[in-house]
Amino acid sequence: MDQTTRSGLRGPRSLREILAAGERTYSFEFFPAKHEAGEHALWAAIRRVEAVAPTFVSVTYGAGGSSRDRTIGTTERIATQTTLRPVAHLTAVGHSTAELQAILRRYADVGIRDVLALRGDPPGNPNGAWEAHPQGLRYAAELVRLVKEFGAFSVGVAAFPERHPRSTDWDEDIRHFTAKCRAGADYAVTQMFFEAEHYLRLCDRLAAAGCDTPVIPEIMPATDVRQIARFAKLSGATFPPRLAERLAAARGDRVEAHRIGVDHATRLADRLLREGAPGLHFITLNRSTAALEIHRNLGLDRPSAERGADRPLTGSLGGR
Ligand code: FAD
Repeated sequence: MDQTTRSGLRGPRSLREILAAGERTYSFEFFPAKHEAGEHALWAAIRRVEAVAPTFVSVTYGAGGSSRDRTIGTTERIATQTTLRPVAHLTAVGHSTAELQAILRRYADVGIRDVLALRGDPPGNPNGAWEAHPQGLRYAAELVRLVKEFGAFSVGVAAFPERHPRSTDWDEDIRHFTAKCRAGADYAVTQMFFEAEHYLRLCDRLAAAGCDTPVIPEIMPATDVRQIARFAKLSGATFPPRLAERLAAARGDRVEAHRIGVDHATRLADRLLREGAPGLHFITLNRSTAALEIHRNLGLDRPSAERGADRPLTGSLGGR
């Protein structure tokens, strides 16, 4: 499954080719809606994002049956009814290898060529004991291999600027991350983080390990202190005390909290781009307002020739 169509013309470039050419990617993440009103809000957000022509959008993969069907349905609809490039998140949780291959076949049939390959967490309790499906896979590196063997998908993986919560030390974390890259990962997207140093140190560690896989930082606008504190606790991300204080002082004033969260994320994203990050991946929580504001604050809604932001990157992130 290369990028050549039946007519002999080349199809759109793959994410692998875009990143390998040193071009930045700008992307937005959605989750499958739980009910009809949520579906309406999700599609309104997807259409607003479509208007700024991002490099890709992604849809998270749920822990259980119906949410998984909604992920697959939403991703297929994005592929067939919008101008967007969908990246399908896929996890190994509770799936046999044959089931994973059946999902990949469905994606391939509607022209989806991009998968974010994840292990996933135990359903119900992300920190609970991990049990692989008896005919399934144990680690994300195995899923990367499965997807690559299935067809010419571009494959992304997860990276953790503050280390994966289950890794006992950095050496182990980097060793397992680089195994995903050797298995064929073309790029990585990070877990949320709120201070640039976490991302920059991860890039230093990867450079020291000889790993040059592009790592795209995830940008989470912290506009709701309670919600973000809960996410941060689940993901192991440090929530900066100064930001928490500012948001706590704005409690009850949603406009001010929104302004603080967007301002912090804009500064963080701007620093990451100046340091050479290969793109930005915005969490939308299916609303897109804050993510699009940050995108606009950075001038990313202007044509790339005007802003110069898509210049091929020179040098690597290592050695800062
Ligand atoms: P892995 O790379 O397999 O790592 C998991 C742990 O196992 C790590 O501690 C690693 O060091 C260790 N490890 C890896 N290989 C080995 C080995 N050979 N021997 C021993 N230990 C090993 N979850 C969802 O359910 N749905 C989603 O859509 C989703 N999207 C995400 C998107 C992003 C950008 C990120 C960063 C995370 C996402 N997650 C999602 C969460 C993710 O599934 C969890 O964080 C999960 O715990 C780790 O997945 P992984 O792919 O990094 O696993």
